[in-house]
Amino acid sequence: MSLETPTQSWLALDAQEAAKQVALGSQIMSTLGEDLTLGHVSVRHECGNLISIKRKGISLAEVGLDDVLVVDLNDPDGLKVPGMHLEALIHTEIYRARPEIGAVIHSHPVYSTALSSTNAKLEYLTHDSVLFHNGIGRYADSADLIMTPQQGQRVAQALGERRAVLLQNHGVVFVGEDIRWAILSAITLERSLKLQMIAGQLGKLNPIPLAEVKKIFPIKYQDKFLTEYWNRWVRELSEYKGSQGTRENR
Ligand SMILES: [Zn+2]
Repeated sequence: MSLETPTQSWLALDAQEAAKQVALGSQIMSTLGEDLTLGHVSVRHECGNLISIKRKGISLAEVGLDDVLVVDLNDPDGLKVPGMHLEALIHTEIYRARPEIGAVIHSHPVYSTALSSTNAKLEYLTHDSVLFHNGIGRYADSADLIMTPQQGQRVAQALGERRAVLLQNHGVVFVGEDIRWAILSAITLERSLKLQMIAGQLGKLNPIPLAEVKKIFPIKYQDKFLTEYWNRWVRELSEYKGSQGTRENR
């Protein structure tokens, strides 16, 4: 029931701050190559019972402060509002099962989704993979959309205490203590898998022994580094938008 790193609270104090985290988090996720109006990012408010989640109908790249819905986890009809994503139950059931979780992202980035469609596993090849020192979960009940509380609970079970769970032949769910950690999981799992694919082409894989993985993890992944990473992703976002604009204008 715990993410192992001590964290200063980055949880949002109010809906406005939460909306900002969801909007920026969604836009950062879009730089992983996601298109269409799929995928969703949510954060928990500091009070614990409220979450803010991206609305449906717009892509991750387009999420602004007005495109975020607030859900009360204690309200049985909390998800019955216009604009709610069909799979929002993934978020609410994980928040219920994991009180220490402050952010949830469901999306379909290329490498993680490809892995979800195979029986291969994440190998500990690089420092990136070390973030997932206790593995990644796999929800294998079906390839269906997650639209019932029971399915959401099964996803939460498959996630266990880990930072990511693959949804078989579908996509992936990333979680974190707050939005910074959840985005780090997404970016880092994609990069780990990309490196794993390249390494597999170069020669026989030479994984890091698990004992060494466990030793590296707390040194490499410390809460105090995360704000630097977040600020860099936000700066990168404007560079990314600039380059996309240039491409579109050609
Ligand atoms: Zn999905």
